Amino acid sequence: MSVVVAKNIRKSFGGLQVLKGVSLTVEGGEVVALIGGSGSGKSTFLRCLNGLESVDSGEIEVAGHRMSRKPAELRRLRRDVGIVFQSYNLFPHLTAGENIMLAPVQVKGIGKDAARSEAKRCLSLVGLGDRFEAYPDMLSGGQQQRVAIARSLAMQPKVLLFDEVTSALDPELTGEVLAVIEKLARDGMTMILVTHEMGFARRVANRTIFMRDGIIHEEGPSAEFFSSPKTPELRAFLHAEV
Ligand code: ADP
Ligand code: MG
Repeated sequence: MSVVVAKNIRKSFGGLQVLKGVSLTVEGGEVVALIGGSGSGKSTFLRCLNGLESVDSGEIEVAGHRMSRKPAELRRLRRDVGIVFQSYNLFPHLTAGENIMLAPVQVKGIGKDAARSEAKRCLSLVGLGDRFEAYPDMLSGGQQQRVAIARSLAMQPKVLLFDEVTSALDPELTGEVLAVIEKLARDGMTMILVTHEMGFARRVANRTIFMRDGIIHEEGPSAEFFSSPKTPELRAFLHAEV
């Protein structure tokens, strides 16, 4: 079953057309990497997929929900789409566990005891089963980002979107976050990853997409995509990245 279907998405900010007709279908359990230069529209596309940005034209369906401007329908869609950003934005006055419990309790109306055990389960999934009571400032950047991933998982999304989640981390903390994402991939989570980590994309993503100037310039199964890029623009991009 297709979890994400985006057809011919267009989006402008003022006079600047940022997405010029982007189409993407992602099947359940698939991992898709999205790469491309700064300003090519990657973040805007992810934000359109969970309704953080409205599109000018085109169609989006996620987990069976049609994108809608109606608040109740938009809420239903967004519950099924987790998004993790470069900045983890944990509440500093709440423990790791409380940060994770917040949305399940407030948005889904789940009881506190159930939310607490789910938060513990999600913390274990990201390798932080023993840090429920830790406040964010007691945790490293990599650990905070893993809490942010656990926070998304606790909503039991049908698809997870990652926007350069390791870009703000020191290199020695990147690996632990990528390892969590790789484990989620093995467990069958459907994911779209915007990343600069080419080796990681090649290893973990079933498919990789190169965005350039608001369009999908080239895409393919990751192994082929990286070993034999077809367009000169992708060849130049990959050459500059390594
Ligand atoms: P990427 O994630 O690939 O670096 P973005 O999607 O963030 O690219 O941005 C694409 C273009 O859209 C950039 O030129 C950026 O300045 C512009 N842009 C993004 N968001 C906004 C916004 N809210 N208002 C105006 N321009 C924006
Ligand atoms: Mg971006």
